[in-house]
Amino acid sequence: MDIVRIPVPVASAPTGSTNAYVIGAEEALLVDPPSECSALDVALERRTISHIAVTHHHPDHTGGVRAYAERTGATVWARYGRTASFEAATDCSPDRTFRTGTTIPTSAGGVRVIETPGHAPEHCGFTAGSTTLVGDLAIQNGSVGVAKPDGDLRAYLGSLRRIGQLAPEMLYPGHGPTIDAPVETCYRLYNHRRDRDSQILSAVAEGASTVEAITDMVYDTEGLELRTLAEGTVRSHLQKLAVEGQLSWDGSVATT
Ligand SMILES: [Zn+2]
Repeated sequence: MDIVRIPVPVASAPTGSTNAYVIGAEEALLVDPPSECSALDVALERRTISHIAVTHHHPDHTGGVRAYAERTGATVWARYGRTASFEAATDCSPDRTFRTGTTIPTSAGGVRVIETPGHAPEHCGFTAGSTTLVGDLAIQNGSVGVAKPDGDLRAYLGSLRRIGQLAPEMLYPGHGPTIDAPVETCYRLYNHRRDRDSQILSAVAEGASTVEAITDMVYDTEGLELRTLAEGTVRSHLQKLAVEGQLSWDGSVATT
């Protein structure tokens, strides 16, 4: 499968860059252009972009959609039912919508859409041959954010299971290097969340009842941005644990 990964510098991204991808050559699909930039321009020089799509609507994955749509005249795709959020993120109206099972045609073969919500509600992956572009569902090192208000931990774990069961040969993530052990990586990320569940349950059992107090006990964060992410993640875990009946959580106070 003809897939090119193009790391584009993005100051706000977790690894300092976001991976854009191009699948195919004469009739190519461009995924997650974070900005209009020379790295992408060079990669696109000998290719004809016929389709543009994003894995989700965070700004480090959408910033270049409008510019490349205008330059290439490509068909712009958005997730079915999420076009308003797509337009807000990209300042660009989609031409078509997709959902699980939709196939986007490219010169390298059909690219199948698979909905993978959790990191963001509209999050999707793109399967090309035996590989899957997974956006911010997975990362080779560390973990990805599943933080409120966008994140939904139960949906995220379901999406990890779905990709793990598909067992692609390779995952192409939104940040960092390609993942050549997809099942192990999905398993590692799944277990990381289960470990965090246990830590949060223990913190609440020991008397921490607010998001702030639980975050203090569970995370070692410095800086406002990381702190905000950590608190949003704690909220995701509290909501999941409450749905499962493992603790009580009314949005401000948690008790066992
Ligand atoms: Zn994201």
